[in-house]
Amino acid sequence: MCDDPEPAVNISGGTEGGGSAAAFDPATADTRAEAVVDRLGELYWQKTYGGRDAFTCLVRTILSQNTSDKASQPAHDALLERYDDAAGDLADAIADAERSELAETISSAGLYNQKSEILIEAAEWVREEFGSAAEFDAFVKGEEPSTVRETLLSVRGVGPKTADCVLLFAGGREGVFPVDTHVHRIYRRMGIAPPDADHEGVRAVLERDVPAEKCGFGHTATIQFGREYCTARKPACLEDPDACPLGDRCEQVGVFPEPGEVVDPADASD
Ligand code: SF4
Repeated sequence: MCDDPEPAVNISGGTEGGGSAAAFDPATADTRAEAVVDRLGELYWQKTYGGRDAFTCLVRTILSQNTSDKASQPAHDALLERYDDAAGDLADAIADAERSELAETISSAGLYNQKSEILIEAAEWVREEFGSAAEFDAFVKGEEPSTVRETLLSVRGVGPKTADCVLLFAGGREGVFPVDTHVHRIYRRMGIAPPDADHEGVRAVLERDVPAEKCGFGHTATIQFGREYCTARKPACLEDPDACPLGDRCEQVGVFPEPGEVVDPADASD
């Protein structure tokens, strides 16, 4: 998931980093997806988005690919400790890093050889295209989101989720609903996105149906919900139909309490 430590502040946007306040009221939601996000707004903390340094956010999100936050956070901390010199530029420091040393520094994140190569390439790209991490940050925060997204996607190792996390957490952009494995699973299970939709398909539905100012919260809160209730193998409703706070809004696509089985929604009708 994105670099998103447990929020301490209430969520609905706010001015810090460019978000704006949102009201969460399932009774007045215009779409099913908005009603779900509104319900999550009642369940979870709310926080503001944006304002983080774009290159640091890119590094953090690359480190988090294919691993848990628990594994990637120490790697991120170690990387910053070794390479983030207040007097210098982080992109410069990583572009010039010895690859094996960088790999060793981030070893707790898994796939560290591959990730160290991708990080060095990304840092070289930032230096060549923008001159410094600070200029890259200004680009992410100031350019049209679609231009930023397209530009980020041209970098090796940056996929749609990584690009959207940078847009959301660094740029504070509204209307960006990054789709990770939890978001992809849950909105198809609920019957809100088509069962066979890929990540981009789910993102299109959510960004169409969830008001822009609620998308950032929707992303992080859905991940939290996926960890606590709608897990991949054992969703809360599997054993107890009343255990899920969103049970009344869910079509349980691919979830079969009798005989207690779970399949990917795309395989549910086979
Ligand atoms: S009812 Fe079950 S499948 Fe639906 S959101 Fe809740 S835990 Fe997930």
